[in-house]
Amino acid sequence: MKMPDKIRTYCPHCRKHTEHKVKLYKKGRTRPTAQGQKRHDLKTHGYTSKIAGKVTVYKQAKTPTFVLTCSQCSKKHPKSFKSRTKKITELVKK
Ligand SMILES: [Zn+2]
Repeated sequence: MKMPDKIRTYCPHCRKHTEHKVKLYKKGRTRPTAQGQKRHDLKTHGYTSKIAGKVTVYKQAKTPTFVLTCSQCSKKHPKSFKSRTKKITELVKK
């Protein structure tokens, strides 16, 4: 799927339509002290790596999520579109 790298859409901070930069959302580094990570560690505690792998079945998101950066207030907000493609092959320059 192709996606333009700049779109004009609504910004909830400016409360109007502005130009936005489009970037694909990627998960950041996990923190070992995060509450969810602690819960996960407690659940898998004591198991070998093989079984622990079975406990954690993460499903990939069906719709790709984008991070839109407003050109005026430079604030970021997420947006996912209805297309259910697995891969975004490229961001097309507009
Ligand atoms: Zn804005």
